[in-house]
Amino acid sequence: MIVVFLGAPGSGKGTQAKDVAKEFDLVAISTGDLCRAEIAAKSDLGIKIKETVDKGLLVDDSWIITLLNEAIAKHDKARGFILDGFPRTLKQADMLDAELAEQNLKVDAVVELKIVPEILIERLTNRYQCKSCGATYNKLFKNPSAEGVCDYCGGTEFVTREDDREEVIRKRFIEYTELTAPLIPYYEEQNKLHIVSADKEPEQVYQEICNILKNVLT
Ligand SMILES: [Zn+2]
Repeated sequence: MIVVFLGAPGSGKGTQAKDVAKEFDLVAISTGDLCRAEIAAKSDLGIKIKETVDKGLLVDDSWIITLLNEAIAKHDKARGFILDGFPRTLKQADMLDAELAEQNLKVDAVVELKIVPEILIERLTNRYQCKSCGATYNKLFKNPSAEGVCDYCGGTEFVTREDDREEVIRKRFIEYTELTAPLIPYYEEQNKLHIVSADKEPEQVYQEICNILKNVLT
C-alpha cells in the first residue's frame, strides 16, 4: 500500500502525512527528511547531496530513489507507506512507478492537498518557530499550550523564517504548481487522485484524508 501526498509548501502536507500514517499504521517517508538525515550522517551520498544543495542545484532524481528504496527496505514488515515530497514531477512519477514495479508494489492512492495562495500567505506569514529546537507554531491555530513556552523543549525565544514572506511564498507556490501540474492528470487517468481542500482547519483536513484512505484500504 503506497500513498503519495501532493501539496504546495505550507499546505500542511508533511504534518498530515505523519499523523495519517500513525492512524493507519503506515510509515511516512519524507524525502526532505531523508536527504537531511543523509547529509547529517555525512555518508558519500550525503556529501554529494550537500554540495548540490549548497550550489543551489536540484538533487539528482536517482539519489532520491536510492534513499527511498533504502527507507522502504528498512521497513519490510510495514503495512504500507505515505510518500511526502516525491514524486514532484512527471519524470519522477515514471521513475517511481518503474522502481515500485520491480518490487511488486505500486502507487495505490494519491492525496492532493489543494490550497489557494491567499490562504497559504495568511497561514505562512503567521508561522513562527522555537529558536532552540525549531518546532513550528502558528499564531492562527497552533500556539504552544503554555503561552510563550515551547511544548517540546521549554524554550522561550521564537523566530520567524526569512523565507516566510509574501513574495517568497508566491514564488514558491508558482514554482510548485508549474512543476507538479502534469502529475494531476497523470494520476487522475489512473483513478488514483483524491483532492482535499487544505484551506480548512488542520483537524478537518485530517478527518477528510482519513475518510478517503479508509475507503482505499478496504
Ligand atoms: Zn523548542
